[in-house]
Amino acid sequence: MTNILILGAGYTGIAAAIRVATRTRRHGGKVTLVSAAPRFTERLRLHQTAAGERLDDHAIADIISGTGIDLVLGRVTALDPARHEVIVDGGRVIGYDKLIYALGTVTDLSTPGVAEHAYVYDDHDQAVRLAHRLGELDRGTVVVAGGGLTGVESATELAEAHPNLRVVLLSRGRPGSMMGDKARAYVDKAMARLGIQVRCGADVVKVLPDAVELSDGELVDSDATLWTAGTRGLPLAAEAGLTVDGQDRIVVDSALRSVSHPDVYAVGDAAAVRQPYGVMHGTCQGGIPTGLHAADALADGLLGRRVKALRFGYVHQPLSLGREDAVIQFTHPDDTPRRWYLTGRWAIAYKETVSSSPMPTYRLLKRGLVPVGLFRLTAGLK
Ligand SMILES: Cc1cc2nc3c(=O)[nH]c(=O)nc-3n(C[C@H](O)[C@H](O)[C@H](O)COP(=O)(O)OP(=O)(O)OC[C@H]3O[C@@H](n4cnc5c(N)ncnc54)[C@H](O)[C@@H]3O)c2cc1C
Repeated sequence: MTNILILGAGYTGIAAAIRVATRTRRHGGKVTLVSAAPRFTERLRLHQTAAGERLDDHAIADIISGTGIDLVLGRVTALDPARHEVIVDGGRVIGYDKLIYALGTVTDLSTPGVAEHAYVYDDHDQAVRLAHRLGELDRGTVVVAGGGLTGVESATELAEAHPNLRVVLLSRGRPGSMMGDKARAYVDKAMARLGIQVRCGADVVKVLPDAVELSDGELVDSDATLWTAGTRGLPLAAEAGLTVDGQDRIVVDSALRSVSHPDVYAVGDAAAVRQPYGVMHGTCQGGIPTGLHAADALADGLLGRRVKALRFGYVHQPLSLGREDAVIQFTHPDDTPRRWYLTGRWAIAYKETVSSSPMPTYRLLKRGLVPVGLFRLTAGLK
């Protein structure tokens, strides 16, 4: 019997848990999944929650039913890799032989005032809090800090859902700067259509209860500030002595084992995964393949098979622009933009079918199958 413990029931933790359970159940694998909440949080739809939309409700117990995985509800509060133990809710001790760490990331709170005054996307409840706040406002200003894909998706979603509010997007660089020129121009047009005021070159140094302060001292009024400008790993891994990078993500080898503690695998946003083009950045697109790869590496190791190195290449940057528009920038494996992009209803349909719900993937995984698209992603560099 090998006790395999998975921490975190987000996109990657569930994928890893189902995959490792199906691969090891006939070979003595006993899989336990620790989840902070009984419901699955669709993190990549939290901007929809913030805009007041009610999403489908998925119980984690239902998602993993029939797999033999034990579900433990609780919050991981400490790891002890020397003893091969994890502490849940400050007291319950769970032992393991192999661990898959999939706890994602949290908002980087290092800018003064973010912790006290900004809304963030760390969990479902926080997005709901923002939705409530916006529902209270008849008029006023919502500031979205951060011009990455999450900031743009949020600004457009909130502007569309609340035409009575002024939405200001504050960005150091040009919003959506990773996209190609044409796709980015499309994004600019969509934001202008929705009346979003975009401020490039804006460096927020402080969040106040009713404003944000820029580095030149200017105050931008704000009735609600959403912070999307950076995430980092939980402090748990560093506190336990695992090697982490500058963003507290666990540094892993090519099989996704911690370089300091090889019985610990790390996947998804929580892992610093190096590829020939650099360290992967946090997406479901890359995260789910890392979860599956770690599960396969773990199973192959237990079965005495050769463990392969992960090779991952990006294919797209999917971006919703409210519920009525979207743009998909297709990319080279290193995430630089190709010439092709999709817009409008084709882009909406693409995003909804290809990149927005992991449930069909989980159903296939339960049957021992890996979706063809995921095979391609992990073979994207070939
Ligand atoms: C608004 C928004 C839009 C996005 N859009 C896209 C997109 O279009 N495409 C894309 O590919 N990516 C997108 N992303 C990024 C994507 O959501 C993340 O890359 C993805 O969620 C990473 O999956 P994960 O499993 O590593 O982490 P998560 O999905 O964050 O899962 C981590 C899990 O660990 C749990 N957890 C955390 N701490 C503890 C603890 N102490 N104890 C127990 N459990 C704990 C959390 O509750 C959560 O369930 C978006 C993100 C946001 C915020």
